[in-house]
Amino acid sequence: MRAADVSRCETCGAEVAPRLLACPACGRLVHAATLTRLADEAAHHETNGRTREAVVAWRSALELLPPEAPQAAPIRARLDALTRTLDAAPATASSLPKWLAPLGVVGFALWKFKFVLAFLLTKGKLLLTGLSQSGTVLSMLAAMGVYWTIWGWKFALGFVVLIYIHEMGHVAALMRLGIRASAPMFIPGLGAVVRMDQYPASPREDARVGLAGPVWGLASTVGAYALSLATGQAIFAALTHAGAVINLFNLTPVWQLDGARGMHALAKPARLAIAALVTVAFVMTTEGTLLLVGLAAWFKALASEAPADTDGRALAEFAVLVVGLTALTQVPVPGLPVR
Ligand SMILES: [Zn+2]
Ligand SMILES: [Zn+2]
Repeated sequence: MRAADVSRCETCGAEVAPRLLACPACGRLVHAATLTRLADEAAHHETNGRTREAVVAWRSALELLPPEAPQAAPIRARLDALTRTLDAAPATASSLPKWLAPLGVVGFALWKFKFVLAFLLTKGKLLLTGLSQSGTVLSMLAAMGVYWTIWGWKFALGFVVLIYIHEMGHVAALMRLGIRASAPMFIPGLGAVVRMDQYPASPREDARVGLAGPVWGLASTVGAYALSLATGQAIFAALTHAGAVINLFNLTPVWQLDGARGMHALAKPARLAIAALVTVAFVMTTEGTLLLVGLAAWFKALASEAPADTDGRALAEFAVLVVGLTALTQVPVPGLPVR
């Protein structure tokens, strides 16, 4: 251990290990001075109406406090109140990162696309073709394999753009709520993730960030459908189907998928309502992805802990996503054998 890592409590002189947030002997907060500064900063931003900046300061303060510290609870309450204000405010350009400017998006997408393309050209195509020929596993992957064999790199490019827009939905929500996060990283063959450096402070925030991906995904899929109607080109119909399926799949409420985060803000009756809605959507369309989403939704509704209150907006977003994306999976893709 380097000498700089060992510190002594300013109050009682006890040795305080690095990373500890409070003195183990007397409980003195290690970052007391920074915390005071952040609290002043937050208050200053609040009085000047800079809600998002205040939220950023409070989140940083929360990181420096042990979760059970008496100061943490009022900060969480303050954050909750402030982020509700952010929720209610209309989205503005200033709440988005600078590199989200149109040119930046295209450049970034192309840069990331290089790696995805390299992967698909080597292993990916083989894998996807294999899946589509065996005709089983997930209908989702099978469909992507068929589309890839028909349209090649053009389909791959469109698909990457759809995934990119989905991820930007998460990034925009994180920015809006003042949560620190990385730019989206593509994992070849699996999609993309946004790594959060801070965690959402409440189920409502978690749902807002989680569902923002599919919400932007729904919008981009509607865009693909509009292109398909405008141009009559089959590839846009294929991208509509692919976009709908991949965003629907992300609504599966398991692991850290977006659907699980959306469900965090739903009480049991709302979870049951979503599970029922997905079931109706499946019965009407027999879209295989809905079977997966539905089973997980029933499990989540019946077998896991739910909060007492439902966040209305999360419920509305979830329901609109299920209905909208299901409808878009039904867009026929010309030139394919009837499913
Ligand atoms: Zn001490
Ligand atoms: Zn997502």
